Amino acid sequence: MATHNLLLLPGDGIGPEVMAEVDRLVAFLAKKSKVEFKTEQALCGGCSIDKHGTPLTEEVLAKAKAADAIIFGSVGGPKWDKVAYEIRPEAGLLRLRKELDLFANLRPAICYPALAEASSLKRELVEGLDILILRELTGGTYFGEPKEIVTLENGQKRAVDTTVYTTHEIERIARVAFDLARKRKNKVHSAEKRNVMKTGVLWNQVVTAVHAAEAKDVELQHILADACSMQLVRNPKQFDVIVCDNLFGDMLSDQAAMLAGSLGMLPSASLGAPDPKTGLRKALYEPIHGSAPDIAGKGIANPIAQMASFGMALRYSCNMVKEADLLDKAIANTLAQGYRTADIMQPNMRSVGTTEMGKAIVTELERLIG
Ligand code: NAD
Repeated sequence: MATHNLLLLPGDGIGPEVMAEVDRLVAFLAKKSKVEFKTEQALCGGCSIDKHGTPLTEEVLAKAKAADAIIFGSVGGPKWDKVAYEIRPEAGLLRLRKELDLFANLRPAICYPALAEASSLKRELVEGLDILILRELTGGTYFGEPKEIVTLENGQKRAVDTTVYTTHEIERIARVAFDLARKRKNKVHSAEKRNVMKTGVLWNQVVTAVHAAEAKDVELQHILADACSMQLVRNPKQFDVIVCDNLFGDMLSDQAAMLAGSLGMLPSASLGAPDPKTGLRKALYEPIHGSAPDIAGKGIANPIAQMASFGMALRYSCNMVKEADLLDKAIANTLAQGYRTADIMQPNMRSVGTTEMGKAIVTELERLIG
């Protein structure tokens, strides 16, 4: 029997509330499928600062390194606004990403038919949308050196950010893009600015070379990042997987995500390199949203982003693609049945809280699995 070791880090604010619905899913799947989940919960973020004076202890970091997948909630909140910058709640998450070298950030944008009206685009443009933005997460403009603001002799200031990429960094993200496309509609758009940036020229060359050598079975198109942004609004359903660098990925993934509607709906995954022995990638799955201190403790948070993040773990870390598909379907059906948390409430729909939404999704999953 396959065993999956999961580390759950619920974090702060609504994190523990929405993570409770992941617990419900894990318990259900453990009962229904021929797999064993070994789960452990630990502290990260503000709750860890309160107990240990640091957002991430060495002990929890070691557990994260040993886990098959980390399911992360969200961290932060006004309570910790005044702690030192180095030990702020978010520093725990950043350290996890860095220590596990999670270089590939996956952000799907899925528009459930029942919520198509909530999008700022017309229904026909977004209904049934299912695209994936793959953002390089550990290189490029956010990390390149020099990165500084210097004062010039004339008293003016000069700010510099440096965009740097090496062949290796582009190769490994390109491989992830082609791998993911094979599990989807088999199409990759590689977005860069080769017309004005040297990193864009290299990006284009390396992605082309990886495609020619290893992924001829996948359709590849190159697109300028600004044109990609425009096409995402004009005709988003033309895309399947879009791969891009850290800076463009930051922009394009937010843009694509919002085509689909509320923050409470959006999952994400961050993957590292495959383990040479097992082929399994280090992985952290988390909703896009933060700890939502304004609604924490009220039992009204939307658990779908957190539950769908666990769905991504089933797909990419547990090799449970069928269950992941059924979970996505259960979420879509539950929405079609009219269940709505406050953030996605529409006229004549059934207003529910976090627990009721979680239970409704698991009940629907049970019906689908049979
Ligand atoms: P946020 O995502 O927490 O909230 C933005 C708005 O969306 C709020 O009105 C909130 O109520 C709503 N919202 C978010 N998730 C929801 C859900 N699941 N259901 C219903 N409504 C939801 O962003 P923010 O207010 O800018 O940040 C709050 C705290 O979270 C800050 O301390 C910030 O640093 C932190 N944060 C953490 C992460 C993370 O852990 N990865 C990400 C973003 C923000």
